[in-house]
Amino acid sequence: MSVVYLNGDFVPAEKATVSVFDRGFLLGDGVYEVIPVFSGCLFRLQAHLQRLQNSLDAIKLENPLLFKQWEDMLKQLIAENTHPELSIYLQVTRGAAVRDHAFPVDPKPGIFAMANPIQKLADRYFEKGVSAITLEDNRWQRCNIKAISLLPNVLLRQQAVEQGMAEAILIRNGELTEGAASNVFVVNNGKIMTPAKSQYILPGITRDLVVELAQENNIACVEQTVTESMLLNADEIWLTSSTKEILPVTTLNDKPVGDGRPGSVWKRIAEIYRDYKNTLIHSPDC
Ligand code: PMP
Repeated sequence: MSVVYLNGDFVPAEKATVSVFDRGFLLGDGVYEVIPVFSGCLFRLQAHLQRLQNSLDAIKLENPLLFKQWEDMLKQLIAENTHPELSIYLQVTRGAAVRDHAFPVDPKPGIFAMANPIQKLADRYFEKGVSAITLEDNRWQRCNIKAISLLPNVLLRQQAVEQGMAEAILIRNGELTEGAASNVFVVNNGKIMTPAKSQYILPGITRDLVVELAQENNIACVEQTVTESMLLNADEIWLTSSTKEILPVTTLNDKPVGDGRPGSVWKRIAEIYRDYKNTLIHSPDC
């Protein structure tokens, strides 16, 4: 049975309980992070904790732990749940209070973290690519906050799943934003593009890493507006996330993307990413 962290204690998952008055439970008032752990290494921890800080700032909730306290807690959580590839989910809510939309005067944040084995996609999904559909992005205007209130994303993803698709790729006002739970890259004539950061997308840690790795390797990669027609006519489409890493989309709206197979630019980037990951997880920084 897994061990989770709840408000200062490490407890067996089945013993971990929270108040029914917690604002996360009643109002979805909280933020979260998902951090992958490869061979015991908290992958890009600094970037994840910075994004957590940004999300907390955006919802005007003080960070209940210092960086070092987060790091120590997460390391202990890994020690309690040994597995070569873990996905850590952590969340901070505005805690228990009398139910009212307005903030409590003196909030007692609720902190929860769990570590589960990464549900790795089978190799065939990387060899053949996955299918996706485009859907209208009907979420709110603060998608840069990693908020626990995910109902719009849940409904969009479910619509994709019911059509046998791996992901919903979202379009707002004729422009690509992101996936229901991933960022999106397109390749046209060898040039990699991904939507620039804005209030309409989550600034993905994997997205930032892909942009960084492409630039370091002199591969053209631009953060810019990607119109729906650029997406529909792309030679390659990829999804990125901490647990999916870089996943090629080879069918979009039941039509092949490019020649219907993972493209050469994806192969190159996936190789660079793999090398980076192998070096990082075996380095003293981890
Ligand atoms: N966009 C959304 C809406 C997400 O939920 C996620 C994470 N699942 C991402 C992008 C990718 O972010 P990251 O690379 O940090 O996992």
